Amino acid sequence: MSYVFDPVPYPTLPIKGSDKLFPVRRIFCVGRNYAEHTKEMGGDTKDPPFFFQKNPDNLVTDGKFPYPPQTSNVHFEIEMVVALKSGGINIKTEDALSHVFGYAVGIDMTRRDLQDVAKKLSRPWEVAKAFEHSAPCSALVPAAQVPSCSKGAIWLDVNGQRKQTGDLAQMIWDVPGQIAYLSTLFELKRGDLIFSGTPAGVGAIKKGDMMHGHVDGVGDLEVTVV
Ligand code: MN
Repeated sequence: MSYVFDPVPYPTLPIKGSDKLFPVRRIFCVGRNYAEHTKEMGGDTKDPPFFFQKNPDNLVTDGKFPYPPQTSNVHFEIEMVVALKSGGINIKTEDALSHVFGYAVGIDMTRRDLQDVAKKLSRPWEVAKAFEHSAPCSALVPAAQVPSCSKGAIWLDVNGQRKQTGDLAQMIWDVPGQIAYLSTLFELKRGDLIFSGTPAGVGAIKKGDMMHGHVDGVGDLEVTVV
């Protein structure tokens, strides 16, 4: 059998120190995984985090974020990205890290004005979260080279000014907890990514801005708004 037309190329991430590519299957994102960010969004810190999704082809790996249409309030959210090499359902917390291929630095770009409308009208979030170029991401660092996925600074600068600061230790659901819980809702598979939530300090960008995100032990990501 052949295709009726050429398939769109499979979304991939580069891997640090390798000429192989990581094929991306799904992108899961944790909402409100840092209490200080929950507060700045007007949420109740007693409510547990939750998941939403982006599309794999929303990934950006060339360091350029085109300012999207239909919005005038686009926010950055610096996040550590967890990449899975295997999956399953009902994964035990103590087994969860054995499914991790590596980690990356990502930015969950958000059309905040459209998200505010969606929240008010109890509508889904795709227009706010799963639009073209909404998932800038660094190369993956293999897990063996990452000293810790549970502590270390996470921050984001815009034009050299610090906007977001946090520590991975502040995550409400740590990485094993995210994988375990997500696997009770979905069947996880190799190639899945999890954007693990953002610390406080999110804000708007404009054309020409340069975002510089960092996660200790994982690395850096520089993205220009074009
Ligand atoms: Mn986010």
